[in-house]
Amino acid sequence: MIYADYNATAPVRPEAKAAMMAALEVGANPSSVHGPGRAARKLLETARTQVSVAIGARAQDIVFTSGGTEANALALNGVVAQLEGKCTLLVSAIEHEAVIKNAGYAGVPMETAYVTADGVLDLNWLRDRLERWDQAQDGTPILALMMANNETGVIQPVSEAATMLREAGGLTHCDAVQGLGKTMVNVNLLGVDYLALSAHKVGGPQGVGALWVRSGAPLKPVLFGGGQERSLRSGTENLSGIAGFGAAAEAAIRDMAKLQALAPLRDKMEARLVAEAGVTVFGTGAERLPQTSNFAVPGFRAETQVMAMDLAGVAVSSGSACSSGKVKRSLVLGAMGVPDDLSDSAIRVSFGWDSKPEDFDNVADAWIEAMRRAKP
Ligand code: PLP
Repeated sequence: MIYADYNATAPVRPEAKAAMMAALEVGANPSSVHGPGRAARKLLETARTQVSVAIGARAQDIVFTSGGTEANALALNGVVAQLEGKCTLLVSAIEHEAVIKNAGYAGVPMETAYVTADGVLDLNWLRDRLERWDQAQDGTPILALMMANNETGVIQPVSEAATMLREAGGLTHCDAVQGLGKTMVNVNLLGVDYLALSAHKVGGPQGVGALWVRSGAPLKPVLFGGGQERSLRSGTENLSGIAGFGAAAEAAIRDMAKLQALAPLRDKMEARLVAEAGVTVFGTGAERLPQTSNFAVPGFRAETQVMAMDLAGVAVSSGSACSSGKVKRSLVLGAMGVPDDLSDSAIRVSFGWDSKPEDFDNVADAWIEAMRRAKP
């Protein structure tokens, strides 16, 4: 089996497995004051340092959560609560549902920040909107802009946008779940106020994530209880998961150059698919993650492709992987103005830390063969 669905979940790295096993052996609560408790606390704080180093942050500004979804939910609901609703959320049209839906339910006005045909936030739109901002009526502007898109891999102009927000007296939240380990994610260079991460996209376990919060940025907890994580996220920490996250984040940064070296292989694969099958590749006019490819050919439906590829021993996904396993039309491609017939046949191929150079040719072979069978 060739696994080419890293943007859905990356296989767990050996370093993460080892760290998780070690944490399970400790078997104590990091809040306990006895020896085993202190050993657990040490592992927790080691992982906090590993994750913070990966994004150029201070360890004390990391809040561990149950994943990327919860990190996004905490940022958006937490800032709205602290500002007592006196704000408007500007949400890029290509955000993950974990951002769009939490923003939609946050109880304050939400506006869509448009993207160009290449799937990049339209900075001219943002500048215009902020120039017209009426603080008395709209409150504080809060932008939600992802680091890189999960479907197309298109990297967003986060630092430029965050500068505009800061100059307008606003705040920026960045969902960097797909960015970590694939492109540089540094909170100081980005200049954002909140940044969400997820372990399972970098080779850690599922169900663990983190929110980085700039010191002094407004944030109220949304979950109450024992006061863990500086009272910003109560609940006994998922120690083994967090230990796995720390080890995976460290390994992902160590291996980033290797991942970036996949770009020419991905580009060669795409060039072949264009030449031999006339596919349209999305987002090629923009800077993209090195290991993501999203392409389509009209009339060859995405679900048919995913099944045909699975039979050929290649795991890929259609658009964004969604929990029900059902294929939904991609909002991301829609926001880029891709016509429905093309968007309905878009599939995403994504590689990662354990991909082999020959995987790219093998994926292209399998896809071309599947298309020839489907459309003789
Ligand atoms: N944000 C982005 C961009 C994602 O790709 C994902 C995962 O699909 C999430 C958030 C959600 O993360 P998690 O699965 O850890 O809740």
